[in-house]
Amino acid sequence: MTPAAVEPIAHAPSYYAATAGAIPERPPLQGHADADVCIVGAGYTGLSTALHLAEAGLRVVVLEAARVGWGASGRNGGQIVHSYSRDLDVIEQRHGAAQVQALGAMAFEGGAIIRERVARYGIDCDLKDGLLFAALTGKQLKQLEAHKTLWERYGHQQLELLDAAATRAAVASGRYQGALLDRSGGHFHPLKLALGEAAALESLGGVIHERSKVTAIERGAKPTVRTATGDVSASYVVVAGNAYLGDLEPRLAATSMPCGTQIIATEPLGERWKEVIPADFCVEDCNFLLDYFRLSADRRLLFGGGVVYGARDLSDITASLLPSLLRVFPQLAGVRIDYAWTGNFLLTLSRLPQVGRLDHNIFYSQGCSGHGVTFTHLIGRLLGELIQGQAERFSAFEQLPHLPFPGGRLLRVPMAAMGAWYYGLRDRLGF
Ligand SMILES: Cc1cc2nc3c(=O)[nH]c(=O)nc-3n(C[C@H](O)[C@H](O)[C@H](O)COP(=O)(O)OP(=O)(O)OC[C@H]3O[C@@H](n4cnc5c(N)ncnc54)[C@H](O)[C@@H]3O)c2cc1C
Repeated sequence: MTPAAVEPIAHAPSYYAATAGAIPERPPLQGHADADVCIVGAGYTGLSTALHLAEAGLRVVVLEAARVGWGASGRNGGQIVHSYSRDLDVIEQRHGAAQVQALGAMAFEGGAIIRERVARYGIDCDLKDGLLFAALTGKQLKQLEAHKTLWERYGHQQLELLDAAATRAAVASGRYQGALLDRSGGHFHPLKLALGEAAALESLGGVIHERSKVTAIERGAKPTVRTATGDVSASYVVVAGNAYLGDLEPRLAATSMPCGTQIIATEPLGERWKEVIPADFCVEDCNFLLDYFRLSADRRLLFGGGVVYGARDLSDITASLLPSLLRVFPQLAGVRIDYAWTGNFLLTLSRLPQVGRLDHNIFYSQGCSGHGVTFTHLIGRLLGELIQGQAERFSAFEQLPHLPFPGGRLLRVPMAAMGAWYYGLRDRLGF
């Protein structure tokens, strides 16, 4: 049989794609393959799971519709933020003491896994330490104090509250009343991390096929995963397509909503970087619709923010984000913007990740709701444990209930946008 032609697919036009170095192409799946585990999607969820399994000696095939790290994992803010998009206090109120103990015990593990991976496989991804949660109001500063106490209760001891002057010394903006410094947070080049993890997987015998969109997963004692040009039979399947999965598994689409968020990258700032973020930490503010920013290795300011419910593309990303950047750093008036891109994350109503089983041998993880860099690394380990017979830690997440968005598929976007407008207004009024 002559192999079918598969069209090339490019990465989003991001600063990351432009600076990742030579990006190897992996051939599409052609014909039949067998594996212990077949994984749908080569973002951090898929790659992290694959790497944990390959380290345990399992045969893993990853099928990626586009390119390794093409989704959120290769385009994100590159910020290592611990815990979950809804923090442990909310989990405790809603789900009780036993649940929060289980999730709290894992809240800082994902960040450690990233550092472990980087060290073990020598992944060059511009990793730097330090994250600031910056408070715009006195109320947010009080919330950060409570946040510190909460995380310390779960064993995190690398936190420090900064007053307004210390915050300004770290990030040269007059906007912040104080901040919480997390020394075990940090930032990195997200596409380089994804590519490094893919190379690590391949060094252990794992196989990745790019431009291999999964079109069907047939259930059975040994499920079959189909693409337009081939199929994989595996003992287990992991679905890790997140916001780009579409309707492949309608049950997963029903309780989640793809959302877009945007990032712009300035020209290299040269020595001016010291007038922007002298501490070189990454920063996110405490608003509901938050600004997140950091310096790249070549001293550009990468500035992200905004949420587009339903993941519609913005016509002019720079026009939408530059005013926010200049509100934080008016000293950068006139700065050139070299890159502007968008990426999709998957929102859930509870803002907690959705983890579970579509069948006894088909598992999924999705919906980190904005903060997913650390969780995707954690869940890779937990999926690895599950497939090797240890379900306990995976089950702690599996038990979280998930409801559909009010309004169903038709009205969920306007209803979520209305909710966000309300919270955005509260941010602006300082409530
Ligand atoms: C712009 C932006 C900024 C962000 N910033 C941060 C941040 O600073 N810190 C943080 O913690 N989180 C951040 N996030 C969230 C974080 O990036 C995500 O939670 C995380 O990367 C999700 O990883 P994933 O592997 O689950 O999904 P993705 O990285 O989106 O990967 C899914 C992959 O599956 C593939 N796929 C989908 N369907 C199929 C199919 N049918 N067949 C084969 N392959 C398929 C896609 O092509 C894609 O490559 C950000 C997200 C965005 C979009």
